[in-house]
Amino acid sequence: MIVILSSNVAENSKEYRLTLDYLSRLPGIATRIHNVQGAQQVLTEIYLIGDTKTLSVEDIRVLPGVERVIRVSEEYRILGRHRDGQRVSGFEYNGVSFSQDTLNVFAGLCAVDTSEHVELMLKALRDHGQVCTRMGAYKPRTNPYSFQGHGKSCLNYVFELAGKYDIKVIAMEITHESHVDEIHECLEQTGRPTGVMLQIGTRNTQNFELLKAVGRQQDFPVLFKRGFGITLNESLNAAEYLASEGNSRVVFCLRGVKTNMGDPHRNLVDFSHVPVLKRLTRMPVCIDPSHSVGSRERSPDGLYDLMHATAQGVVAGANMVLVDFHPVPTKALVDGPQAMLLEELGWFLEDVATARECYEKRQILAAQRVAS
Ligand code: PEP
Ligand code: MN
Repeated sequence: MIVILSSNVAENSKEYRLTLDYLSRLPGIATRIHNVQGAQQVLTEIYLIGDTKTLSVEDIRVLPGVERVIRVSEEYRILGRHRDGQRVSGFEYNGVSFSQDTLNVFAGLCAVDTSEHVELMLKALRDHGQVCTRMGAYKPRTNPYSFQGHGKSCLNYVFELAGKYDIKVIAMEITHESHVDEIHECLEQTGRPTGVMLQIGTRNTQNFELLKAVGRQQDFPVLFKRGFGITLNESLNAAEYLASEGNSRVVFCLRGVKTNMGDPHRNLVDFSHVPVLKRLTRMPVCIDPSHSVGSRERSPDGLYDLMHATAQGVVAGANMVLVDFHPVPTKALVDGPQAMLLEELGWFLEDVATARECYEKRQILAAQRVAS
C-alpha cells in the first residue's frame, strides 16, 4: 500500500509526525519513506510493507496530511502504475526530461575506441541539435579475449568532449559497482561537464547485488535493459530492485530477446511491448534497435531493418532510442557491422521524427474516439 502525502506537508510538520506515528504502530507493517521529485515539487510517498490486505484504505485516507492511498500489487510496487494515473512519473536529469510523454535519441558509439572517433560523433550530434549520446567504456563481452572497453582511462576525454559539444546525458554501461565511483570521481575532476545515465546491460539484468548498489546511489539515473532470456515480468521485478533501494529514476529498455526464431536478426525484436510497459509501469520506455536487429541489412524500400524496427517502436510510443553510430564502422572495436554512419544521422533523426508524428496523430485519434 502506498500513502501519498499532500505536497504542502513538510517533514517537520505536526500532520507528518501524527500520520507517521500511526502508520509505524500498525502491527506487522513496516514503513519506508520515498521522496519523489516531481516536475514542480517533492512528494512524500510512504510505503507500507507487510500484510496490508486487512488494512482499510478509508482509515488511512482520513489521517492528517494524506492526499491519496493506493493499494498496490506485490510486484514492482514502486515502479508499477497500479491503475493510478495521478502518480508522478518521469524525471528530469541535467536539464533533460524523461517521461512516458517525451522522446530522446541516444545515438553514439557502442564502445569508445579513440578520442578522435568520440569527437567526430559528438560534433555530429551537436550539429544535429542532439544533447544525448551513448558511449561504452566498460564492455561485457562473450569472449574473454575480445576488447573489454577502455574503462576508466577514457572517461576524462569522453566527459570533456561531451562538455565541449553541449552533450547533457551519456548512457554508459557499467558492469561492476566500482565503475559508478570511477564515473563519479572523473565527473568531479573534470568539473561535471556532462551527465551520465548508468546502463545495466542485458547480461546483468538479474545481477541483484549490482542492482542494489546502483539503486542505493542517487547521483545517476539508470537505463535498465530487459534480460534477453527471461520473461518481461522477471525483468520488471529485477528493475524494482533499483527502486526498492531508493533510485526510481529508471528508464526501461527493450533490446530484443534471444531465440533463433528471430533469425536473421541478432535478437527477436520485442518493441510491441512498448505499450505494455507503459500500462504496467510508470517508467519511460527505451528501444535499442541496434542490439535487437544487429545488422545494416536493408529491404528493397531502401530502409535499414534497424530503421524499420526503430520506427515500429516510436510509432508505438517509445520514449527513448538507443542506437549505435560510428564514424568508421570498419574500425569499430565492438559491433561495427550494426553501426549507422555519421552521414546517416540526419536521415535517421528525420525518420524518427516522422514516426513520432505518426504516434502523436494516433494519440489524437484515440482521444477523439474516447470523447465521442
Ligand atoms: C550495449 O548497449 O552496448 C549492450 C551491450 O547491450 P545489451 O546489454 O542489450 O546487449
Ligand atoms: Mn554493442
